[in-house]
Amino acid sequence: MSSVAAETAPAPLNAARDILRRTFGHTDFRGLQGQVIDEVLAGRNALAVLPTGGGKSLCYQIPALVRPGLGLVVSPLIALMTDQVAALVQSGVAAARLDSAIDPDERAETWRRIDAGELALLYVSPEGLMQPWMLERLSRLSLSLIAIDEAHCVSQWGHDFRPEYRMLGRLAELFPGVPRLAVTATADARTREDIRAELRLEGAAEFVASFARPELILSAERKRGTAEKRVVELVTARPGRSGVVYAGSREKTERLAEALRGAGVPALAYHAGLDKTVRARRLEEFLEADAAVMVATIAFGMGVDKPDVRFVIHADPPAAIEAYWQEVGRAGRDGEPAEGITLYGAPDMAWALRRLNEREVDEGVKQVQARKVRQLYAMLDGVACRAAAVRRYFGEAEVEPCGQCDLCAGDVETVDVTVAAQKALSAAHRLGGRFGRGRLVDHLLGRTKDVSDWESGLSTWGIGAELSANQWKDLAEQLVFEGLLREDPNDGRPLVGPGDPEAVRAVFRGDRTVSMRKPAEGASGGGGSGGGAGDRSRRKGREATVVGPADRALFEALRAWRAAEAKAQHVPPYVIFHDRTLAEIAAARPGSRGALARLNGVGEAKLAHYGEAVLEVVSGFAG
Ligand code: ADP
Ligand code: ZN
Repeated sequence: MSSVAAETAPAPLNAARDILRRTFGHTDFRGLQGQVIDEVLAGRNALAVLPTGGGKSLCYQIPALVRPGLGLVVSPLIALMTDQVAALVQSGVAAARLDSAIDPDERAETWRRIDAGELALLYVSPEGLMQPWMLERLSRLSLSLIAIDEAHCVSQWGHDFRPEYRMLGRLAELFPGVPRLAVTATADARTREDIRAELRLEGAAEFVASFARPELILSAERKRGTAEKRVVELVTARPGRSGVVYAGSREKTERLAEALRGAGVPALAYHAGLDKTVRARRLEEFLEADAAVMVATIAFGMGVDKPDVRFVIHADPPAAIEAYWQEVGRAGRDGEPAEGITLYGAPDMAWALRRLNEREVDEGVKQVQARKVRQLYAMLDGVACRAAAVRRYFGEAEVEPCGQCDLCAGDVETVDVTVAAQKALSAAHRLGGRFGRGRLVDHLLGRTKDVSDWESGLSTWGIGAELSANQWKDLAEQLVFEGLLREDPNDGRPLVGPGDPEAVRAVFRGDRTVSMRKPAEGASGGGGSGGGAGDRSRRKGREATVVGPADRALFEALRAWRAAEAKAQHVPPYVIFHDRTLAEIAAARPGSRGALARLNGVGEAKLAHYGEAVLEVVSGFAG
């Protein structure tokens, strides 16, 4: 059995390192890759939680190439499988996928290769894998490993729950002795427990990497007026870059894409309501473009590995911090600087909470998810480093501020507004939760139209002269985010009342202070708009890929060569070479195959296929 072989083999990790270099063209393992691979090579089960872009796929691809037999990869989405298989084939790896989109001829050919032992990696969907005939056929083969990608889909606590993932637990008894590796980019302690229990990974070693994504520059701002105008502003300030804009509804994706096209941006809408072929075409267009903006619902994303996405803008906020990190994490997968910008508002939070309430799930699940919603808004509306808040949320200890998010880099000065908060809470209490936020503000300022004697007789009437109407609005919104005020959705005309009684009491006692962002000079809507106009210019100065001015022309020539090559092969440009590799080539100007082979991302197969062509482009720039 293979586990015995692993014990007697001198150093299987050396074989792994060899494949890392020769096949994938990387000099060294990244982060926990080496440890995870070591564990699987020893024939043991493992659970690996690595951030997006952390190189999860090599954790199973390499052991599948080192160990004898066929490696199975379970993946939730066809797009994800297609991309990975295309990239593997480019690197000279015998990989294929079997899913509902494969035609009969290709399917037969794939089975022939499997039976002949020619295939190293096979990508399958969970429901495809668990069909009895499939399991039967696979049981006759020798398997090197079973990898379960996006393993968090098994957990009902998360946002990507896929019931069919639950069937995968049976793999433990169906394929005893075959190491199983679950990988995901997003799992708090609770989700990890769920993965272990559901996938029967008791006793498996757990590898949890840091969630730091130093290349991501995060910011968030409260919505002011229509988000549409702001999104157009943000996107047009980033010309020639690929990006993703997430919106909350299908209709909104269409509208935003149109507005962006009106502003000269090549934008495409994407949502589950579109015809399958339209969706496939737009996805392809996006992947193959050097600069395109996808305006999408969250139906778009999982498995979209375009490495050069330079920004992700949430026109509507994500569902929870897990979703935030995953969605924002789709930017900068190539490790180059990228931005995550989130627009949010109190109505978004109220809507999220209401929708949750309407779902038919356990009360316990609802409570956990409601807390997750609140934690998201506390982070978005918070005053301390966003990246650090996310990492703490995922359980990391001793986290340093990132130094570059809007809250670290910006001049977010805060002021203590505990007394004003006490006034607002007290007014909300006296008004008895019968009015909306606007009316609460009017009450505090003593300017309610046609005020009743009852209201003007309350002790809180007109006690708020220290803040402007906009500042009171901001404060009220913040108190909602902090759970100190509660909004009852009331069919779109929310009513505001006191929130969590324990927390409200703490504010009255002075045990809990409330601080608010100091309003920026001349800011239209008052404070609270971190990541506003002031820091936009500074960010614009950051180059996507670091290419010196002297190498620019060669870099562009290489990109043009790559674009033509990709078009001819009908694959995304980045499966040929990443921008980063082209940048390295432009800087190093290799004069020989040997020199080219030393650069990161140039494996043997790529050297064989593209070496001559690349050297020719480079030699055109000699001297
Ligand atoms: P994810 O964890 O998000 O699935 P991928 O496996 O797609 O990440 O890898 C992200 C990128 O990092 C890929 O472009 C891959 O080529 C690159 N990468 C992975 N491992 C290494 C490594 N050891 N050295 C350099 N680049 C790597
Ligand atoms: Zn920060």
